Amino acid sequence: MTAAARKDVHALETEVREKIHLEILKRTGAYHASDHILLPSGQHTSEYIEKTLVTTEPSFTEGLGAVIAKHFAQWPVDIVLSTGPGALILSHCVARAHPSRPVVVYGTKGLAGGKRRVTLPIEFQRLIRQRTKVLLIEDLVSTGFTLNLLIKLVEHLGAQVVGIGCLWRRTSVELDGKPVFSLVSRDFPTYAPQDCPLCKKGVPLNEEFVRRRHVRRGSSMEERKPA
Ligand SMILES: [Zn+2]
Repeated sequence: MTAAARKDVHALETEVREKIHLEILKRTGAYHASDHILLPSGQHTSEYIEKTLVTTEPSFTEGLGAVIAKHFAQWPVDIVLSTGPGALILSHCVARAHPSRPVVVYGTKGLAGGKRRVTLPIEFQRLIRQRTKVLLIEDLVSTGFTLNLLIKLVEHLGAQVVGIGCLWRRTSVELDGKPVFSLVSRDFPTYAPQDCPLCKKGVPLNEEFVRRRHVRRGSSMEERKPA
C-alpha cells in the first residue's frame, strides 16, 4: 500500500469512528443535527449539543472513556484531572480503564472579580507535585478557556500535562500545543440571521434551547423553616 493510500485509509477510519461516536451522542439525546437552531448568542446553526445530557448513559460513557484511555495507554499517568460534573463522570471512566490506574481529582470553576478561574481543592494539591503526570479530561471543548487555565495551574504546580482527552472538540480551539485526543472533532457553522442559508430556504427556526434557558427552570425543593 502506498503512503497516500495508507493516509486515505487512516482518514476513512477516523471518519467512521467519528460517525459512530456521533451516533452514540445522538442516542443520549444530547446531539441534535439537521435542524435550524437559534443559539443563545442570536446566531443560527444546524447542529447543537446539550452538554448536560452527554454523560447520562453510564455504559456509553464507560465505552467512550475506555477509547480515550486506550489512546493514552502508552504514556504513564498519575492523575486524571477535570472540572465540572460531566467531565468528572467521564474522567472516572477514563481513569478506570487506563493501565497506570491513575487517581481522579477535580477542580472547580468560578468567577473572581469578573475573571474566570479554576481552583484545585487544598486536599488534592499534595497529589499534584513536581513531575506528576497529569491527563486532563473534558466532555465538550468549545472555547478551551477552562482547559487552558487547568494547563497553567498544573504547570504552576511543577507537574506535567501528558495530554488532553475529550468527547467533543471544536477544531478551531488551540490548547497550548498539548497533545489532544477527541472522539469527535467538529465545528458547527453558525450564521448571523441575515446570512443564514436555512432562513433563506424557509426552514422553521427551532427556539427551544434558547427559550428553555430563559423561561423553563429546573425542578427544585427548599427546606421549610420550622414554625
Ligand atoms: Zn436561520
